[in-house]
Amino acid sequence: MRMDKLLSTIGYGSRKEVKQLLKTGAVLADGVVIKDGKTHVDPDQQEVTVHGEPVEYREFIYLMMNKPPGVLSATEDLSQPTVIDLLTPQDAVREPFPVGRLDKDTEGLLVITNDGQLSHQLLSPKKHVPKTYYAVISGRVTEDDIEAFKKGVTLDDEYVTKPGRLIILKSGETSEIELTITEGKFHQVKRMFEAVGKKVTYLKRLTMGDLKLDENLEPGEYRDLTEEEVEVLR
Ligand code: URA
Repeated sequence: MRMDKLLSTIGYGSRKEVKQLLKTGAVLADGVVIKDGKTHVDPDQQEVTVHGEPVEYREFIYLMMNKPPGVLSATEDLSQPTVIDLLTPQDAVREPFPVGRLDKDTEGLLVITNDGQLSHQLLSPKKHVPKTYYAVISGRVTEDDIEAFKKGVTLDDEYVTKPGRLIILKSGETSEIELTITEGKFHQVKRMFEAVGKKVTYLKRLTMGDLKLDENLEPGEYRDLTEEEVEVLR
């Protein structure tokens, strides 16, 4: 990796600022002053220091965001804000992407990473990673719905869903539920409720595999996953 890319990636400023820093002779690779940003370094093999302090470079970043409503879970969009727009420049420069999609109006747990392998693993239909959602439903959710979801319901495109685990938190004209599913079909939760004649009016993802949304995160906030949290996703 080029030295200027490495330094801007880990937060030493823009390419221009990094160029200035390099000019001062403050940056060393294995004890040798590097002034040319084009110099290639291997941060895993070489010790890079700035003003004598070793820089810490991690190849991958793993973030947990509490996705707010109104933003797309995409990397870029010409007209609408995306979850990547909510990241700091230091994180965005690592080219992370959201693992899977939540609808624009859906909130909650979204993992954002630049680790393609982990993302692939989590999204692989073969892995059946369970995802739990909290939802507010317009209509009375009943025991019949629990049974229907347990068996699998037929969506508008004739697809029959795999068993889902429905828990009723509150049943009334407006109901509150938790639903765990192991698939990720387009608008799946909303379409499952449509299949039983009800409408999702609010949707929030709470978990993905053994990873739980940190409830201290306000909508739009994010933090690094801990090492343990990355491990539970593997
Ligand atoms: N199911 C939906 O309908 N929407 C989402 O965003 C996620 C699951």
